[in-house]
Amino acid sequence: MYDFKFHSAFSVDDAAAKLAAAEDGTVMAGGQTLIPVLKQRLANPSDVVDLSGAGLSGITNNGDSVTIGAMTTHAEVAGSSDVSAALRSVAEGIGDAQVRNRGTLGGSVANNDPAADYPAALLGLGATITTNQRDIAADDFFTGLFETALNDGEIIKSVTFPNATKAAYAKFPNPASRYAMVGVFAAQAADGVRVAVTGATDCAHRGPKLEAALSANWSPDALDGVTIPADHINGDIHGSPEYRAHLVVVMAKRAVAAAG
Ligand SMILES: Cc1cc2nc3c(=O)[nH]c(=O)nc-3n(C[C@H](O)[C@H](O)[C@H](O)COP(=O)(O)OP(=O)(O)OC[C@H]3O[C@@H](n4cnc5c(N)ncnc54)[C@H](O)[C@@H]3O)c2cc1C
Repeated sequence: MYDFKFHSAFSVDDAAAKLAAAEDGTVMAGGQTLIPVLKQRLANPSDVVDLSGAGLSGITNNGDSVTIGAMTTHAEVAGSSDVSAALRSVAEGIGDAQVRNRGTLGGSVANNDPAADYPAALLGLGATITTNQRDIAADDFFTGLFETALNDGEIIKSVTFPNATKAAYAKFPNPASRYAMVGVFAAQAADGVRVAVTGATDCAHRGPKLEAALSANWSPDALDGVTIPADHINGDIHGSPEYRAHLVVVMAKRAVAAAG
């Protein structure tokens, strides 16, 4: 680990000011990704600003949506009665107990790992990310491998998830890490059917073919004829592109069946 200056932030404005004063600063949530990255010397920030005292935890039920603070842990989401069963199941399925007790919604979304679960839920429910600068629609947020629409120094404050009529997440977990080999979030949302896929490509994305089939007929059988080309699908020692492409349809069927 390279040397860096450590700061505790006492509000989002305080965090933003400390970042602005740093030569090359970064924020820290639960440190589940950041600390290993620093330990392996894959990053060399001049300053690390800890958000744990910045007042960004909490879950608010707005009636037709739920707003979750960026520093809310996966365990808190998994245990909340204000959160839909679909969203709870996303949080419950992340990593192991330690990761769920330290890892946060904001850290997961900002990190945008290609196999992370939350990005699929944000896209599948048409969520809005609120930062210290603006609101960003989930559809515009996840831009590439570990890339997002966040500007340098921009801090996620919360994510608002609209309620859906029906929704569920189905994930085929990597047996070692529990990250998604492929995960599919399917929803009948206010603006129609939304289907989002994670684990299959460089970052989570909507599935237009799946959405078209399910818009015509919300049923697992509606996906029988749908095939996903393997051209741009991830392949590694855990699964070939063809295997993951096949999993996309299987997980989509399971998500629709679970949503009812
Ligand atoms: C063993 C293991 C297994 C895991 N399994 C899964 C899994 O199955 N599914 C899954 O989805 N994830 C999984 N994760 C990821 C985990 O759930 C965390 O979400 C992820 O590691 C981010 O951790 P964190 O919230 O502590 O953020 P940190 O590690 O503190 O930060 C991550 C990045 O986000 C930035 N950041 C953090 N908060 C904010 C904010 N509010 N605004 C702007 N930028 C911010 C940081 O600067 C940093 O670049 C796993 C992680 C581990 C270590």
